[in-house]
Amino acid sequence: MARYIDSVCRLCRRENLKLFLKGERCYTDKCAIERRAYPPGQHGQGRPKFSEYSLQLREKQKVKRMYGLLENQFRRTFTEAARVKGITGETLLVLLERRLDNVTYRMGFASSRAEARSLVRHGHILINGKKVNIPSYAVRVGDVVSVKEPSRQITRVVAALEGAQRRGVPDWAEVDREAFSGRVKILPTRSDITMPINEKLIVELYSK
Ligand code: SF4
Repeated sequence: MARYIDSVCRLCRRENLKLFLKGERCYTDKCAIERRAYPPGQHGQGRPKFSEYSLQLREKQKVKRMYGLLENQFRRTFTEAARVKGITGETLLVLLERRLDNVTYRMGFASSRAEARSLVRHGHILINGKKVNIPSYAVRVGDVVSVKEPSRQITRVVAALEGAQRRGVPDWAEVDREAFSGRVKILPTRSDITMPINEKLIVELYSK
């Protein structure tokens, strides 16, 4: 499967926003946005374009990169959101938030979504006691997400849980750090997503 292998800090610089793609480093002064707060590349410090299309495109890229999806995966999620009754943009964000890789990250078992995806893919994460190795699995109310017993020794899981105290746990989840497990109390809503996102622009882009 195709995947992005260039520096992820370039993605943050491109969007001029911390997307928190590198775990603990994002909270230090080594963060590339702190050092070079302008887009990467030869024309990075030139005059930016603000056409309607470029604003819509940037918003879509920002969210797609934040959740670590490729275009096809993101588009599929959008199509799914469009089928659901309600506000498409908000449904899109909620579907992204319900992904197992995101939930693993938000509960603190990984220090970034990329790390969480790797844990899920390698079978370290259980849902209600059963292994689920599909990062796009959409969690449901009452689901218990936990780290498999032998995997609790993994250094990056232990380090992530320590660092997660700073990030906190979203209101829709409760986490028992000692037990390496967390429960989805309620489904996330739009107001639980605090990153600056204008989802209407994404809907406009895909509705062209
Ligand atoms: Fe983005 Fe983190 Fe890199 Fe900073 S350190 S630019 S927040 S990925």
